[in-house]
Amino acid sequence: MHYDVIIIGAGPGGIFSAFELQKLAPDLKIAVFEAGHPLEKRRCPIDGDKIKRCIGCKSCSIMSGFGGAGAFSDGKYNITNNFGGTLHEHIGKDKALQLMKYVDEINMRFGGEGTKLFSTAGTKFKTICIQNKLNLLDASVRHLGTDINYIVLQNLYNHLKEKVEFYFDTPVRHVAKTDSGYTVTCDGETYSCEKCIISVGRSGSKWMESVCNEMGISTKSNRVDIGVRVEIPAVVFAHLTDELYESKIVYRTEKFEDNVRTFCMNPNGIVVGENTNGIVTVNGHSYEDSALKTENTNFALLVSKHFSEPFKDSNGYGESIARLSNMLGGGVIVQRFGDLVRGRRSNEKRIEEGLVRPTFSATPGDLSLVLPKRVLDGIIEMIYALDRIAPGTANDDTLLYGVEVKFYNMEVDLDDKLETAHKGLYIIGDGSGITHSLSHASASGVFVAREIAG
Ligand SMILES: Cc1cc2nc3c(=O)[nH]c(=O)nc-3n(C[C@H](O)[C@H](O)[C@H](O)COP(=O)(O)OP(=O)(O)OC[C@H]3O[C@@H](n4cnc5c(N)ncnc54)[C@H](O)[C@@H]3O)c2cc1C
Repeated sequence: MHYDVIIIGAGPGGIFSAFELQKLAPDLKIAVFEAGHPLEKRRCPIDGDKIKRCIGCKSCSIMSGFGGAGAFSDGKYNITNNFGGTLHEHIGKDKALQLMKYVDEINMRFGGEGTKLFSTAGTKFKTICIQNKLNLLDASVRHLGTDINYIVLQNLYNHLKEKVEFYFDTPVRHVAKTDSGYTVTCDGETYSCEKCIISVGRSGSKWMESVCNEMGISTKSNRVDIGVRVEIPAVVFAHLTDELYESKIVYRTEKFEDNVRTFCMNPNGIVVGENTNGIVTVNGHSYEDSALKTENTNFALLVSKHFSEPFKDSNGYGESIARLSNMLGGGVIVQRFGDLVRGRRSNEKRIEEGLVRPTFSATPGDLSLVLPKRVLDGIIEMIYALDRIAPGTANDDTLLYGVEVKFYNMEVDLDDKLETAHKGLYIIGDGSGITHSLSHASASGVFVAREIAG
């Protein structure tokens, strides 16, 4: 079977490249190969009752399938070059922003209309933050919410399914260069194409590495982010979240001059566990539906670590810390801030008596036995700094869940067209290591589609 373009991976990167290609060049024969299930068949078996822990499904419905890792995400599309990836370093700042805005327009047309676009532009919080040694990064954020994000994906699929051939539950095993293009081999079948776009995200990171090794494409190690998820009564942060929804705030620590930053803020949301290759870490969600809102807000505080020489495995370092917390806590550990600063472990009783009702069931423990001193000191300093702009953040009862780890793919050597050294082979989205977010991954898909369509 021959195609003009084969796209590997149906996450935001793959979906938006298919969308733009069929729009600009409707005569092109396009196929999308996806290791996971169609959207309606994606279902994680953990129900908290019969199945409490990850049972290692052949294809993880949280990370794989139509919609990619973003399908059950909070659907926060951050329109900014300040975080979420380094796409602008390849294609330029104006172009990157323009593409993120275009993606937002498509999302609005496909079911997102009516959702709120928050912005830091002209906000008084910028000054208040600076006065307290905190830096509020500029961004606009469209919050679709987990529920509307799903509807947008459903509508995009219904629009694409007649124009693009989808192969679900079909992991690609090999990509090879031929005289006129590429071959893509799945279990038992080989397909050929003129141009190939690889968009395999975090879940395809190991496979991406093998493709780069086999095809002689250079890569460099990336960073890992380590920290905790903070849970506080929503009222403590309400003045910020009501106006900005998500505030990305950076603090430079006095002790080590490390940057600690807030990440993935979920007003009135819930804390959730996440299983990546058997390692349980923590994350957060929030819903648009008011019936699903809680009385708490959660966000991560993260410190970046990047190793290069002689130790290069930043992800391995993050994994080891997460494994240690899993060993001590049997999963995620939760600790009251007051217990952490007093150097004692939290227990069920103290958590139960606290003001903050946990939205996630974790093991009370001691995070100072897990997180490196430098990371932990930075997090404690930042909590006190945040307390100055949101009094109550450093309350004894503030809950800290650990560990939160953000892994990044190795960075693939790409030119300003996101093309590899092999002509016609493009690598986009989180699998390329240059994007780490829904908006950047989607924008990279539109960018490459426009390059191909000419
Ligand atoms: C729980 C959670 C919440 C998140 N919340 C947000 C948020 O609110 N805002 C935000 O900006 N970002 C969020 N993110 C990150 C965001 O989801 C990713 O940055 C984004 O999905 C990356 O898109 P992508 O297309 O590059 O990769 P992915 O979305 O990972 O998609 C890659 C696809 O490729 C498939 N694949 C992998 N290998 C192969 C193969 N060999 N053959 C065929 N198919 C393959 C996978 O099955 C997957 O479906 C969240 C992530 C998670 C896990």
